[in-house]
This record gives sequence, C-alpha cells and structure tokens, in this order.
Amino acid sequence: MAASIQLADRIRSLPPYLFAEIDQLKKQERAKGVDLIEMGIGDPDIPTPKQIVDAVAKAVHHTPYHRYPSYEGMFSFRKAAADWYQRRFGVKLDPETEVVALIGSKEGIAHFPIAFTNPGDVNLCTNPGYPVYATATTFSGGVPYLVPLKRENGFLPDLDAIPADVLKKSRMLFFNYPNNPTAATAGRDFFERVAKFASKHGIIAAHDNAYSEIYFDEKAPPMSYLQVEGAREWGIEFHSLSKTYNMTGWRLGFAVGHKDLIAGLGKVKTNIDSGAFEAIQEAGITALSLGNDVLQPLRQTWAARHKVCIDGLKSLGYDPFVSSAAFYIWTPVPKGFASAKEFCKTVLTTTGVVITPGNGFGEHGEGYFRIALTQTEARIKEAIERMRKVKA
Ligand SMILES: *Cc1c(COP(=O)(O)O)cnc(C)c1O
Repeated sequence: MAASIQLADRIRSLPPYLFAEIDQLKKQERAKGVDLIEMGIGDPDIPTPKQIVDAVAKAVHHTPYHRYPSYEGMFSFRKAAADWYQRRFGVKLDPETEVVALIGSKEGIAHFPIAFTNPGDVNLCTNPGYPVYATATTFSGGVPYLVPLKRENGFLPDLDAIPADVLKKSRMLFFNYPNNPTAATAGRDFFERVAKFASKHGIIAAHDNAYSEIYFDEKAPPMSYLQVEGAREWGIEFHSLSKTYNMTGWRLGFAVGHKDLIAGLGKVKTNIDSGAFEAIQEAGITALSLGNDVLQPLRQTWAARHKVCIDGLKSLGYDPFVSSAAFYIWTPVPKGFASAKEFCKTVLTTTGVVITPGNGFGEHGEGYFRIALTQTEARIKEAIERMRKVKA
C-alpha cells in the first residue's frame, strides 16, 4: 500500500473553510468583468498615516535594527505602549513585566492558549467571533466552548448560562469589545461582571481590544478591560496597531496584563518566533504618540461610512444592529433565504457586492451577514443601490 501524506488531526478537525465557495464565485464574477465592491474582509482601505511611514523609512536605515530583535520587544516600544495605556485609559503598567510586543495581535492570541491550556481543557469563546480564539484552542489540545452572543442581550455573553461542568474545566474566556463581527460595545458594568466571574471561577479573562480606537461617540470612547477593579488579577488584553492606524500589513501589536500571563505568553514566543522587526517597532512608537489631530479625521471617515451604510440598509428594509464603534455592520439575513451563505452568494452574483456570511464567524453567526466598511462613502452608496436588485 502506497503511503500518502496525511494532515495531523488538529488540522483535520478544523471546521470547513466557509469562504471557499464565495472565493470561487468572486473569481468567476471577476473573470466575467464584474466590478466587485469588496466589503468582505476587515482590512482598511485607507493608507497608514504619513508620520508612521516616514518613521519606518528612517528606522530601516539603522543597521542595528537589521539583527534579531528581542522576542519581548524593545523596551522603548513597551514603554510607549505603557505610556499610551496610561494616557488613553488611565491604566498603569510596568513596561518591563506587564507588556509584551506581538507580531500583530493575532500572533499573540494564537500563541496564548499554548501557554495556559492543557489538552482537554475548555476555553470559552464568545461566538460569533474572531475565529482564532477557537482555532488556537484546538491547536493547543483544548476544546472550544462557544458562548452565544445574542441580539436581545446586545451581543454580550450570558455568563450565568454557562453550565457548571463546563466552568470546572474552563481555563480562559476570550471576549472582544468593540466586537468583530457584531460591532457591539461593552460598558463598565459588563467588564466588572467578567472580572468577578474570572476571579470566582479562576478563569483567565483574555480581552481582545483591536477596535478600541474605532468609535463614533467622542463622549464615550471604548474602555480597556484593565480599567475595572480586579481585572488584572486574571486578565490579559490584546492590542493591535492594525485597525487604529491602518497598519494591517505591518504586523505589530502588544499584550498587557498580569505579569504571569505576559511571562507565559513570552515563554511561548521565545520558542517560536524572534520578535517584531525593530524598525517597525520604532514606527509603532511614532504611531502611539499620534494624537487626535490624526485619529479624529480617521474616526470621522469611519463614522460617515457607517451612517451611509446603516441609512442605506434601512432604506432597503433591512434591520441592521446599530452600534457606535468598529467598522462593521451586522444585519439579519432577510426572510426567504435558507442561510447566510445563500444570501451572500445571491448578493455577489446579482450585484457584485462582496459581504460575509455570519456563520463564517462560527455557528452562532448563522442568520446574519457582515459588511466591512472598507470602501469609500461613494462606493458604499453604490453597493446599497445595487443591493436594491436583491429580492428577499
Ligand atoms: C483584525 C483583528 C485582530 C488581529 O489584528 P492583527 O493585530 O492585525 O493581528 C484581532 N482581533 C480581532 C477581533 C480583529 O478583528
């Protein structure tokens, strides 16, 4: 019998790739010459601010940066991250022990369960959600338990509904506000509930704060989880420069929180990667020093797109979830479609508008679709006009 190459069980056990059919349809439509309006992926179309680009252009000539970086990040970058947390959230961090640089926050999120999840342990993952929480759990030998996010609860999880036998085996809770894909936000009271839940059950609270700076209500900017009392006892927060500064391609983020959680993640990183390019960290220091003169116009752009899209969807008879943060719109699929995928395929083939079926973010996303506001206002308006053609 001829041997054949076999994938490991951890890869084979992954859920099927839900976008394969959509990707195929995209290719087909593009080949026909259709002008696709891509609002599928959460990848900003706006360039990185010039100050940051100038900083890396200068730093790249600094030859010491051409050598291996330290896995935990330059002290100056960790200090800049700690200073930014102090200014933005009033949270005091020791840059030496409570901050670690990441090669994008996805890297940190993906590696974190390796440090704290034993085979058979459960990790609680809010769902629909960023798929990495569950995948990284599986890769570490753990078992994801999907905690549903429902519209009637403002897409916040009902922590009291998690069964006791699941809690007993749970090592960590992944949560994310402002949320991808629902765009829901969380207030202080929810974060306080999480902190109590974490210390009561001895569960690590892993908060993904990738969208903290994408908000439209200047009077109520999103919080850091670490702002609430007791959060740090069991808490870690992942932060990304990708969405705030339109730096998705640069790969830079950081994690902050309890020093043992940071040290555990650092231990994984010393064994897997060798840190982020120091010229990019140098540019990250510049990014974190930028003020509202740069960030406010960006927020205004997202806000204007958000309004155009919400108003447009409502004018077509949709019932989008209206939030005041992140750059996504989460909307129920109209009646008359068997699934989110059927709806998104129909929209794609009849209008050339690319949107994402909600179950791409896990089973609790079925029945919804996500629009990423990564097109200009004019293109979003055009997408809405084209969607008039789709009959529910
Ligand atoms: C985009 C995104 C990230 C990852 O960002 P990177 O720092 O670019 O790796 C993490 N979490 C959520 C919810 C995201 O949407």
